[in-house]
Amino acid sequence: MRKVAVVLGIGALAIAGYVAAQSKQSKKGRTSPVGYSDTPVLPGQTWKVHDIGRPHPPVVTPAPAGAPVPPPSDAVVLFDGKDLSKWQARNKGRVVAPGWKVEHGYMEVVGDSGELFTGEKFGDGQYHVEWASPNPPDGTSQWRGNSGVLLMNRYEIQVLDSYNTPTYADGQAGAIYGQWPPLVNASRKPGEWQTYDIAFEAPRFEGGKLTKPGYVTVFHNGVLVHHHREIIGQMAHRVVRAYEPHETEEPFALQDHDTPVRYRNIWIRRGRTYDRK
Ligand code: MG
Repeated sequence: MRKVAVVLGIGALAIAGYVAAQSKQSKKGRTSPVGYSDTPVLPGQTWKVHDIGRPHPPVVTPAPAGAPVPPPSDAVVLFDGKDLSKWQARNKGRVVAPGWKVEHGYMEVVGDSGELFTGEKFGDGQYHVEWASPNPPDGTSQWRGNSGVLLMNRYEIQVLDSYNTPTYADGQAGAIYGQWPPLVNASRKPGEWQTYDIAFEAPRFEGGKLTKPGYVTVFHNGVLVHHHREIIGQMAHRVVRAYEPHETEEPFALQDHDTPVRYRNIWIRRGRTYDRK
């Protein structure tokens, strides 16, 4: 009896190992569509959400990657390469300790461990984020080094490997995901450090109604990719999602899209003048 149990135990272990290997294996070479034609038309635009026919912005070669950009004196430093003490994680709706890897001065997404969000809340402000997509690259379209800068945990500036690799225009690096492609594609190669500098005006709500939409100005690797662009609503895939009322400050977040994107040197300067009369 005991021998049988031992044999069964080894068998179960072997099966578990096999399943783990398969699920690990299945994360390689993942593919996703490069666009859609069955999605709704974006409000105020002629294009559909993730429109397969939407032209891709022209490619601009940015300056070579450089050293991390040090934070100004009034910035809140959220990640300086050492630890995730400013962050929490949300996994399947539950708040958990961050599971992302920290090494060599960067943090790296550990797939399915959950998105990171800050304990502190932010709204209007200047956001600086540095990121690198995996090298060698893996997968296609939206599986190719996907993550995202989630302003107020709702409005996504897409993080993706968009160097010589196609996806839908409103989902490539620098896009306001599902809404606006970047003005140009200023992507660096996979593995190279890239920068986002974002001036964000948070939306305003009164009595549960939107009184002013959000706006973003974004520089990707020092190149302007959005100039005071109005945000249509919350980030969504394949649909248009309206604004949903929230506070003037909310946690800042980084997306876990199950690919090992790296981040370093993240800081925010709180808005000081946007609402000044
Ligand atoms: Mg994303």
